[in-house]
Amino acid sequence: MSQYAVSSRGRVILKRGKAKPLWHRHPWVYSGAVQEVRGHALDGEVVDVMDEHNDFIAKGFINFHSQIRVRLLSWDVHEKIGKDFFQRKIDEAMFWRERTLAMRSKANAYRLIHSEADGLPGLTVDRYNKVLVAQFLSLGMDHYRDIIVPILQQEAKVETVVEHYTPRYRELEGLPELDHLVHGPEAPTEFAIQEYGLQFQVNIMKGQKTGFYLDQRENRLAVVPYAYNKRVLDAFCYSGGFGIYLLAKGRASNVVFMDSSNLALELVKQNLELNHLPLGQTFLKADIFEKLPEMQRAGEKFDLIVLDPPKVAPDRSSLESGLRSLRLANATALQMLPPYGIIVTCDCSGAITWEDFYRMLSMAARMAGRPLRIIDSRSAGPDHPAHTACPESSYLKVVVAVALPADAPPEPVNEERSRPPEPAKEERSKPEETEKPAIKE
Ligand code: SAH
Repeated sequence: MSQYAVSSRGRVILKRGKAKPLWHRHPWVYSGAVQEVRGHALDGEVVDVMDEHNDFIAKGFINFHSQIRVRLLSWDVHEKIGKDFFQRKIDEAMFWRERTLAMRSKANAYRLIHSEADGLPGLTVDRYNKVLVAQFLSLGMDHYRDIIVPILQQEAKVETVVEHYTPRYRELEGLPELDHLVHGPEAPTEFAIQEYGLQFQVNIMKGQKTGFYLDQRENRLAVVPYAYNKRVLDAFCYSGGFGIYLLAKGRASNVVFMDSSNLALELVKQNLELNHLPLGQTFLKADIFEKLPEMQRAGEKFDLIVLDPPKVAPDRSSLESGLRSLRLANATALQMLPPYGIIVTCDCSGAITWEDFYRMLSMAARMAGRPLRIIDSRSAGPDHPAHTACPESSYLKVVVAVALPADAPPEPVNEERSRPPEPAKEERSKPEETEKPAIKE
């Protein structure tokens, strides 16, 4: 008798031919791959996933509300999903970030746990110095909160763990709406963090994401060498991450900070002060998808443009309109650069692949009549690793390119629809609506 026959756990039997990616450690079982569910399986519980021959593949959290029916946790049939399991995974994630990456020597705010990429689907944890900001974004993980929080407190040597969510974020997984929750003593939720010697003001409760775009840390540093004496546009600046690096470390001559959020621009001003930088920069509150073409038509020029928009394709159905918005914004930006000017262009939509992104850029270059030479292609910082078997976990794409002199007149771009689909606000690691990955981050 096989050991599965005696298990009281629910069993998910896959359709024929659907097991292969899972044997290769892809961590998601899509609902379409499931033949049937046998035995006792309540939402959020751990189930065994079996191939069509009823052979065990892996175990994970089941969620009947999600297109991702099971999020896999372990490929070991003997693994018990409980305190020891979470302790081991959390220890491991923290260990290599400290020992291998020496994160603490670079910043006092960084991602400690990056969901699937750390074997903990639906759990993200960021350290903001003495406070952790955690998000439980899968139903299964949410059930283990009381086990996980004390482990985090102990292993990260912090007293306070704050949960803070974007509205409707947890709804995607069928989780009850939750704004925030504080574990341990109340602690300040507004303070300055430090990365690569720079200070950034963070507001955990009112800010975007968990308070700061930690994933762009190394990309900000990577573009510093191109900034000397340059006029910079930091478009979609949030708290000014790129612009502040380019002023402070790159000695850019001045920066135009642009964002649609007042809070973001207030944070930029605080960050200029914190870093003793000249306050006489320009701050523009605007919808960039609309304002950028206006600026271009008015003849504005920049030597270096950073474009770091929010997620323009929240799901596959919005892929085309998202790419169109990116294409237009990039083509417009390119026309505002002098010969050999630099564009730093980003996208954080999991639904947009690297191939899509390069194709979009190539079309934007043609539309602008400005040949592009890519000098660097980058992703999220090392504390936001990607999972080898799960390309969806590699959401952030950053390309640094030189815009050569015009080789053709620009093609008209204005008839293109310029706005991305709603919602297109904040959160680069928001789960996809159709597939509901827990990363996102
Ligand atoms: N570059 C930033 C992160 C940008 S996140 C950093 O390094 O920290 C995306 C930003 O785009 C957010 O600050 C959000 O407020 C802003 N945003 C979203 N939609 C926008 C729009 N239509 N026009 C201008 N800004 C927008």
